[in-house]
Amino acid sequence: MNYVFSAPEQPTVSVAGHNARIPVRRIFCVGRNYAEHAREMGKDPDRDPPFFFTKPADAVVETGETVAYPPETENFHYEAELVVVIGEAGKNISEDDSLSHVWGYAVGNDLTRRDLQLDAREKGRPWDWGKAFDRSAVIGPVHPVSKVGHPASGTIQLTVNGDIKQSADLAGLIWSVPEIISILSHSMELRPGDLIMTGTPAGVGPLVPGDICIVSIEGLSHIETPIGPRE
Ligand code: MN
Repeated sequence: MNYVFSAPEQPTVSVAGHNARIPVRRIFCVGRNYAEHAREMGKDPDRDPPFFFTKPADAVVETGETVAYPPETENFHYEAELVVVIGEAGKNISEDDSLSHVWGYAVGNDLTRRDLQLDAREKGRPWDWGKAFDRSAVIGPVHPVSKVGHPASGTIQLTVNGDIKQSADLAGLIWSVPEIISILSHSMELRPGDLIMTGTPAGVGPLVPGDICIVSIEGLSHIETPIGPRE
């Protein structure tokens, strides 16, 4: 293939205990998937179907990498999340079959320009500027299903400079991983390398330069993100 300029590098995420990496295709994110978080965002947790937004694949950041305080925000937030990694393509996947499409799981941090997100929400505009900016998806090493199974419960916790800000159990997801995969796949074909950030528990809040943000999930280890000065 001849390109008029160099093709961009394939974004990838690491695999725990392995040198091979996972090429990232798309990053899907679930909005408001824990009841207490829905309430803190001023919404009733309900049985409305889940809604999704996306981040670009090249927004991925690894654990240990510093994330500079992003532009155009004065309210930069963390969001601890369980990340599902799709390993097998499918569409119209049934809930019963959905877990067979999962390659593994990781710890994630859905970094958010909250002021831009809420402004967009109020005006009925897209969320991209609040959610899909550069370096907005911290994704830890992916743990294969063959090692960790399918975590449906376990503590998910986030600290800033050692203070616990979010602490919940994965069992508190309003929409479970099998439900999310099934619903998503009835709308878009899922392909290997698709990541699904499954939503954050209550307790979201701001990060400022100099902070160290750590997210951990029982059985999946932790990720660490230092926040750097605005560039
Ligand atoms: Mn989120």
